[in-house]
Formats: sequence, C-alpha cells, structure tokens
Amino acid sequence: MLGFLQKVADYTQDAVSAAKYLVQGLGVTFDHMRRRPVTVQYPYEKLIPSERYRGRIHYEFDKCIACEVCVRVCPINLPVVDWVMNKETKKKELRNYSIDFGACIFCGNCVEYCPTNCLSMTEEYELASFDRHSLNYDNVALGRLPTSVTSDPSVRPLRELAYLPEGIMDPHELPDNQKRAGLLPTQVLEELKKVKLEEENNSSKDIAPTKINSNN
Ligand code: SF4
Ligand code: SF4
Repeated sequence: MLGFLQKVADYTQDAVSAAKYLVQGLGVTFDHMRRRPVTVQYPYEKLIPSERYRGRIHYEFDKCIACEVCVRVCPINLPVVDWVMNKETKKKELRNYSIDFGACIFCGNCVEYCPTNCLSMTEEYELASFDRHSLNYDNVALGRLPTSVTSDPSVRPLRELAYLPEGIMDPHELPDNQKRAGLLPTQVLEELKKVKLEEENNSSKDIAPTKINSNN
C-alpha cells in the first residue's frame, strides 16, 4: 500500500513539475508576443552573443598532440592535421593545423571531443570575407584571440531579449547594473546538481528497505 501511495506521490510531483515547465515556456512565448521590433544600429551597436554561442574556433598549437580525433568526429572530416613522424623519437611532429570556416557548420563536435582541450568555441561571428579561400584558417589565424563585443570601446553592446531584466523589452532602455531575468547557465547547473542529489537520496532510501528485506 505504501509503495502505491509513493508512486502516486511521485506521479503528482512529476505532473506538477511538467506543468511548471510548460507555464515557464509559455511565459517566454508571451514575452515575445509583447515585444516590439528593435533596430540594432550595426556596426555601431552589436548584440552580445549568448554564453554558449558557437562562433569561430580558437586553437592552441602547443597543446595539440596531432591525434586527429577532431577529424574523426567532424561530420565532414574538416580539420586538416598536418604532421610528420619523427623516426628518431618515434613521435608525431605537428607542422600545421587548419579549419575551413567556409565549410564548417559550427557543430562543436571537434571542441567537445578534443582530448587536450586545445580547441574552443569563441563568440566571434564576423567572418565575412571577399574571397572564400581566406575562410580557410591556418594555426596562426586560429590561434588569434577572439574579439569581444563587450570589450570593444567603439561598439555599444546590446543584450538580446532573453538576457534583459524582467519587464524590459528594448535593450536601448536598459538601466545600468540590472541583472537579467532567469538564471545564469552556472546557476542552472547548480540547480540541476541539487535535483540530481535529491533524486539519488530518495532512490537510496527506497533501495535500503529492500536490501534489509532480502537479507532477512
Ligand atoms: S583532437 Fe585536439 S589534440 Fe587531437 S588533433 Fe585535434 S586539435 Fe589536436
Ligand atoms: S565545428 Fe563541427 S563542422 Fe566545424 S570543424 Fe568542428 S566538428 Fe567539423
């Protein structure tokens, strides 16, 4: 009987959290419905990319071990790892590394799987060029530190709607030092960790009596 009641309680809890997330999602939709068109005076004003924006890839030559994992996990085998085998040391010697951003789909697989973390996605999105061949970045171009909208003194950085404080619809009207609505990705992670911990604690409580019973 107790087990049945526990199941009902769990089910109700799940239903309540599902309803909560549904309302949260609808809240975002309604926020967008209230929104008027906002003109960003590019290039004098630029939108700040989100925290997990997947822009131009940054590469650190010194950390690369020429393992070619990035090539294997890339959907189009795009990165070119140019290495030679040193017969004396019997080790790979890296000569060059390049990625063609004219073909890259910015999926981030190479960054995710690189064993030495020498690749990272930056917030740089201004890659336009007159010649498509100049989109093929070698290790020097890939090693260049990215530009940042927020540290460029000639640009007025603007926040996107999702990053504005509650009730503010236009980034031009943003009062100074106002925090955005909602949680930061780091705070979301903390919340998720807490939920997982609670779930683990609850499941260990459920398992404990079963073990005792089986010993008996
Ligand atoms: S996965 Fe990383 S370490 Fe391996 S070749 Fe690619 S960039 Fe270099
Ligand atoms: S971001 Fe994706 S498409 Fe671009 S090089 Fe990496 S794995 Fe390939």
